Amino acid sequence: MLNFPNSILALASALERGWESYRQQGEFDLFVEFTLSLNGLTEQLHRQHLPGLVRACQELENTALTFFADRNSHPIPLDQAVAIERNLQIILGELRRHETPAVMARRTQDKPTKHSSESPDPPRRVLIIANESHPWSVSLAEQLSFFGFTPVRLDWEAQPQDDEPPLAIAFVPDVEGRAYPPAAINAIIDLRTRFPTSYFYCLSVPASLQSIVLLQRAGADACIPVGNKVSDVLSRILEQVELREQDMHRVLIVEDSATAIAHIRRSLSQHGIHSKAISDPRLLFEVANEYRPDAILMDMYMPFCTGVEVTSALRQIPEYQALPVIYLSSENDIVQQVEALRLGGDQFLTKPVNPIILASVVKTKIERYREMLYSTQHDSLTGLVNHSTSKGQVERMLQAAQPDGNLVVAMIDIDRFKTINDTYGHPVGDQVIRSIAWLLRGRLRGTDLVGRYGGEEFIVALPDIEPLHAIGLLEQIREDFSQLPHAHAQGTLRATLSCGVAALPDYLTTSTLIGAADDALLEAKRSGRNRVVLSRGTYT
Ligand code: GH3
Ligand code: MG
Ligand code: MG
Ligand code: MG
Repeated sequence: MLNFPNSILALASALERGWESYRQQGEFDLFVEFTLSLNGLTEQLHRQHLPGLVRACQELENTALTFFADRNSHPIPLDQAVAIERNLQIILGELRRHETPAVMARRTQDKPTKHSSESPDPPRRVLIIANESHPWSVSLAEQLSFFGFTPVRLDWEAQPQDDEPPLAIAFVPDVEGRAYPPAAINAIIDLRTRFPTSYFYCLSVPASLQSIVLLQRAGADACIPVGNKVSDVLSRILEQVELREQDMHRVLIVEDSATAIAHIRRSLSQHGIHSKAISDPRLLFEVANEYRPDAILMDMYMPFCTGVEVTSALRQIPEYQALPVIYLSSENDIVQQVEALRLGGDQFLTKPVNPIILASVVKTKIERYREMLYSTQHDSLTGLVNHSTSKGQVERMLQAAQPDGNLVVAMIDIDRFKTINDTYGHPVGDQVIRSIAWLLRGRLRGTDLVGRYGGEEFIVALPDIEPLHAIGLLEQIREDFSQLPHAHAQGTLRATLSCGVAALPDYLTTSTLIGAADDALLEAKRSGRNRVVLSRGTYT
């Protein structure tokens, strides 16, 4: 089940109530409120990676916006209201369907329980729509199941049995590189209507604008060009799964006027943005440290010091050097604004700020900031977190662990990898590295850390799991990896991995946990490779 956070369900109810009020009273202001809550819902759905629903909401939002220009056009004509209501009901119906019984548990079966505060991982069913005789139908299904997905192969004409929306749909045309025939387009439209929330891939699409536009109109989210291999398609699907739900946007407001705070917080919450406000800038470091904002809205004039001074001070602290700071001021003086930006601000907004502009500026700045953080923390070959970020995450997991809690750290290294590189070439070696990354990501929980620690060395940290259970999981991964065929020019090759494990409470610090796991890895190599070895608490 896609367990929506309460915020989404609350927004959906608010949206429905807002629409009812508008239908009863017909006032323009109520219509604006309705459109704003629709916009807030769209954002939330976007964060849940539900492109189908996002698109449906955006279309409805666009329709609603056409009634913004003229206050006197309200209440809007009945036929238009009915059309809006019908689309609204489709969206609400889809959301409610997600509230109903469990299907999601699949991925986490046989896996330790997740932290209750976290949302579950997305469903992992992938529909492969292809002619049964198409070679991709089988190979894509095989590969997907290897990486922890549940592939369902279907012929073009067949109707999917299950009503539960799959994570993704991959449509494979019969003939490579030709425009999709009308029958294929119709099949895509049908599937899209039935599963508006699933991510839709069209494969082997010819590089023609006309073809792509046609497929996008039919409901494709991604067109994968002709010439791509099964592994490319797989990596697209895996990347999408990797885009797990991000935390809510969090904004810290530094502002001495209670009225301004109230106005800003209301505007932000209408758009699903969480906020916290302080009226005394001297509290900034303490509150920021605890709240971990994604952006700061900074008043220009406050009793103790100016917003520019506060921002310059903030920029002295390494972890806040890139945090977006948006100034708010009644100031309209361009020279002043330029100076403020030069001294470390990112944007200037004039009070009172239009709520839509405020929300859109805040979101854009936060998205850019997150993209920037993502690229500095992740490795581009595998998409896993890099060495230094991995260490930081182990440290954080250790701090979060209860005194008698569990934390298991494992170091994994591919066996005789130099030989693979030397025999088959670096690109094949790279693909082996990517495969192991995908396998680990696919088999472990969203709460587990999987990092690329070095060239062909990986670190895994599993909170809240008994060490013996963790060893069982790692053994299974080791065994499965050894069976996984890796393609090269002349055929396929097999590779193996060795793994060293250390756990709480045998080791109590990040460095001793990692050091002990590393030693156990060496022991696994020495004693013959292709095995998992647990450190016995002798490492110091
Ligand atoms: P062992 O079983 O003892 O681990 O033997 P090994 O050959 O795997 O030895 P080692 O772990 O020291 O080998 C690391 C090799 O990995 C050396 C380096 O050329 C290769 N390597 C490191 N990063 C990359 C990468 O990004 N891509 C490829 N293709 N090779 C890499
Ligand atoms: Mg002020
Ligand atoms: Mg190695
Ligand atoms: Mg190595």
